[in-house]
Amino acid sequence: VIDHGVPNRTVLTTCAYCGVGCSFKAEMRGDQVIRMVPYKDGKANHGHSCVKGRFAWGYATHKDRITQPMIRDKITDPWREVSWDEAIKFAADGLKKAQEKYGRKSIGGITSSRCTAEEVWVVQKMIRTAFGNNNVDTCARVCHSPTGYGLKQTFGTSAGTQDFDSVEEADVIMVIGANPTDAHPVFASQMKRRLRQGAKLIVADPRKIDLVRSAHIEADYHLPLKPGTNVALINAIAHVVATEGLMDQGFVDERCDLQSYKEWFDFITDEINSPESVAAECGVDADAIREAARLYATGGKAAIYYGLGVTEHSQGSTMVMGMANLAMATGNIGVRGVGVNPLRGQNNVQGSCDMGSFPHELPGYRSIEDQEVRGSFEQAWQRELDGVPGFRIPNMFDEAISGHYKGMYVQGEDIAQSDPNTKHVEEALRSLDMLIVQDLFLNETARFAHVFLPGTSFLEKDGTFINAERRINRVRPVMKPATGLEEWEVTQRLANEMGYAEMNYTNASEIMDEIAALTPTFAGVSFERLDREGSVQWPCNDDAPDGTPIMHVDGFVRGKGAFVVTEYVPTTEKTNRKFPLILTTGRILSQYNVGAQTRRTSNIDWWGEDVLEIHPSDAETRGIRDGHWVSLRSRKGETSLRAVISERMAPGVVYTTFHHPETGANVITTENSDWATNCPEYKVTAVEVAPANHK
Ligand code: SF4
Repeated sequence: VIDHGVPNRTVLTTCAYCGVGCSFKAEMRGDQVIRMVPYKDGKANHGHSCVKGRFAWGYATHKDRITQPMIRDKITDPWREVSWDEAIKFAADGLKKAQEKYGRKSIGGITSSRCTAEEVWVVQKMIRTAFGNNNVDTCARVCHSPTGYGLKQTFGTSAGTQDFDSVEEADVIMVIGANPTDAHPVFASQMKRRLRQGAKLIVADPRKIDLVRSAHIEADYHLPLKPGTNVALINAIAHVVATEGLMDQGFVDERCDLQSYKEWFDFITDEINSPESVAAECGVDADAIREAARLYATGGKAAIYYGLGVTEHSQGSTMVMGMANLAMATGNIGVRGVGVNPLRGQNNVQGSCDMGSFPHELPGYRSIEDQEVRGSFEQAWQRELDGVPGFRIPNMFDEAISGHYKGMYVQGEDIAQSDPNTKHVEEALRSLDMLIVQDLFLNETARFAHVFLPGTSFLEKDGTFINAERRINRVRPVMKPATGLEEWEVTQRLANEMGYAEMNYTNASEIMDEIAALTPTFAGVSFERLDREGSVQWPCNDDAPDGTPIMHVDGFVRGKGAFVVTEYVPTTEKTNRKFPLILTTGRILSQYNVGAQTRRTSNIDWWGEDVLEIHPSDAETRGIRDGHWVSLRSRKGETSLRAVISERMAPGVVYTTFHHPETGANVITTENSDWATNCPEYKVTAVEVAPANHK
């Protein structure tokens, strides 16, 4: 941590890491950040912060930063530093050549949840106008796309239902597939405060995460389910609620679609969904399921908080709908202290989704096939838009390998490290004629790139990040872009070079004005308002002039809440004699996702490698000793890492993180994905572990 004494100015901005979206004052001396001080009036953090936001910002000025554009003809050639003009012309020529040879739909791009909403808006607009297709997807594809699908089907919009402060009124907190202590630390502290005041806690997680037992907190029920059995578990909880008459029938009758409710009720009350029927499959005691269900339904206001342990499964979307069913059946929607709340991983996952970076949806989650909506964008953007949905990220990879997809722009996302089945991803990237990577560092994906466009850190950005509670927070630049250009300017220049001259913003505020003009849920948002009020939660428009802390208060966004039949379909990823253990993956407190940022800060000293957590009994039968190297093998690949023997694991389940490219945990993971959204099934991989003579 640099400390140069007394600051001579401060800039109020937003953390670049998780979806809590903490506000910080950057204390500056000249152009140098002295320290980041959590902002006491920040509406998401109330003056609190964690070790990432407070200390891990040094990557912004790290020596590995690339600040000059680079190009090369072949990926085996060395990089050549060039001017912005030359790099952008080279990139545009390559994309145009691909389109001439392989057709308009042979190129596309991926937006980043680490970039601002404005930067994301400009990329999806470039793809729809200058590229002329809908081949735009977001890195949220691999994390919360099932949230988008599931909450839209049931409630009508893709968004968490509550603000964070709402947890302070919850009587029962159910945490499913999330580890807030490590991944959303500031919100975890707020949740723990409520638990210490006496709120009850149910944790459904294969691991004994910190919340199960930590200082002055002990979960009332820990349901240590086998990875991949979420839907069976949530159905069993709902079965108890429905068969024991624990529902809020008044809420259902008044607020929900009764036809869908009837179908769901017939399904959920079937004996196949009883705790006794699913206990063995889930690996959870039937009585514990029954008691947890009773607590959720009768303990007062009940709130569900969930993370990627819900979404990153072949039934991720089904599980999201299962939780929504349960919340509606018990009337736990529309007031403070309840709800279905996704804990978003990256700072702007919500925003990148809101901004229309989906191949089937325009900004505001409106179908690209809706002629009226499309027409409003066509008029504003002065271009006819393609009305056919484009490729999702996994389709892009498959189409690249089959020779139909040849050019790609990847903004702030290291797909070669973060996406599953690394071999498959690398084969796809190698098949491209033009790969453009925009990032701070030469990441793993850049090994396959022809153009590298240097990006800007959050300390150089002007715009907004939208957090997990739909809060639109300002990100303000504390220094000029080290690259000479803001990222939206780079995208705009590329769009111009590709023939779309109508894109001509002069600052990020103008982009937000366009977002507000074309996206009804953002109609009341402007930089001027955000600068005046601090932040606001969407929807913010004439119907909700002060923003919306709690969704679905008087009615669901879709009108009546829709129940969905959520049949449990086991994953096709099976253990057998060769691969008898299940690997599940996650994060640790000091590191962030693929580690591109945190590995370049002093946080790396706290935890410098990925390790494999394994239960003592599984370690003993394999002759594995604590701290020794092991090989980890799946049907897809093999890697090696150090073992940590831990009672936190259930027997039969092992766990690792994916923060370090040296480990490359995604060499192991499969290409299985959510049936509705293709979100990868990172959480279930059959593996074997053995002692290794390594290093
Ligand atoms: Fe940043 Fe999240 Fe930590 Fe807040 S909780 S400081 S947003 S990483």
